[in-house]
Amino acid sequence: MSPNRLNHNTGDKTDLEGETYMGPRRQHYLYAKCQLCINLFKWLPVIFITSVLAWGYYAYVIQLCLFNMDSVILQIVCLTFFHFLYIMTFWSYFQTIFTKPGIIPKKFWLTTRDSERLTSNDDRRGQIIQQISYERGLPISCLDATGSPRICDKCNIIKPDRAHHCAACNTCVLKMDHHCPWVNNCVSFTNYKFFVLFLAYAFFLCLFTAASSLHYFLLFWRNQLTNDGRFHILFLFFVSIMFAISLVSLFGYHLYLVTLNRSTLESFRPPMFSLGPDKNAYNLGRYQNWIQIFGKSKLKWFIPIYTSTGDGLYFPSRLSLTCDERGAYHPLLADYDEESAIGGDQGVPIQNRLHREHSHYR
Ligand SMILES: [Zn+2]
Ligand SMILES: [Zn+2]
Repeated sequence: MSPNRLNHNTGDKTDLEGETYMGPRRQHYLYAKCQLCINLFKWLPVIFITSVLAWGYYAYVIQLCLFNMDSVILQIVCLTFFHFLYIMTFWSYFQTIFTKPGIIPKKFWLTTRDSERLTSNDDRRGQIIQQISYERGLPISCLDATGSPRICDKCNIIKPDRAHHCAACNTCVLKMDHHCPWVNNCVSFTNYKFFVLFLAYAFFLCLFTAASSLHYFLLFWRNQLTNDGRFHILFLFFVSIMFAISLVSLFGYHLYLVTLNRSTLESFRPPMFSLGPDKNAYNLGRYQNWIQIFGKSKLKWFIPIYTSTGDGLYFPSRLSLTCDERGAYHPLLADYDEESAIGGDQGVPIQNRLHREHSHYR
């Protein structure tokens, strides 16, 4: 037998002792198969929620409204409200799922030369990162425990303020709130408005469904519902109550975070600044906090379209850590200038703005 005999079909190798080792082709095939299974598994919660919503539509519209309600006026009122809340819930839900986290511009990337400088000067690491931030004029005020700008070793970037690395998405995410398995996406700067609207509309949909099916739910227990679909009405009431209870706490918590301009991650670990950690650093007052996420146009507040202000890279803070004329990293105490901070690019979709920034540094 020749040493390291190769099987040309599978790419496997057999050594002198007869032990077989998996070839690169088979390894790659198994890896791709594994990835596919993991991806399918990640989508299961989304499939579950979509299925519950689809069944809920059938149970409410067909079984409850069309088969059991006698009054035409009541049918029209219930169907109108239900359809409005249902469409808004689905719209916000799909916007949360399919809005990609923003791209981190190239000026935040560490080049091979930067990485070499960092590895060869391990004792001056913090100083070098500060120097790179200064030279490129990065708007950075969040620091790590050593007092220098934060870097992500996995993405090889200087992290923008409020950005964090998401292990599930395997990338750094702008103003990351949390990774939500129910939307199989990161809730972050680009989709936080959609997420809050989804919680709100889903909660009111459940509340409305429970309230309008209560009467028929009681008829079921009095044996006054006789048609075959009565069990759909029974479960419709239970499911909507169950979801309303779980949504109310989550919705309330995120409303509280919106009013404080704080992300879920920041409420657990306050961001660090040159003056120390500060949970309330971005709290500019309820109205300012609200418009940072929902935008200035009141008409668009409750529609799941992108209206958040800012670029996801710079966030005005109470301490007003400002940049000098060159826009370099240079914390100073100064007053907050709302217009210059968030006014400029308002209304331009974040993807466009980040793309523009990205191309500028190519
Ligand atoms: Zn990262
Ligand atoms: Zn994520």
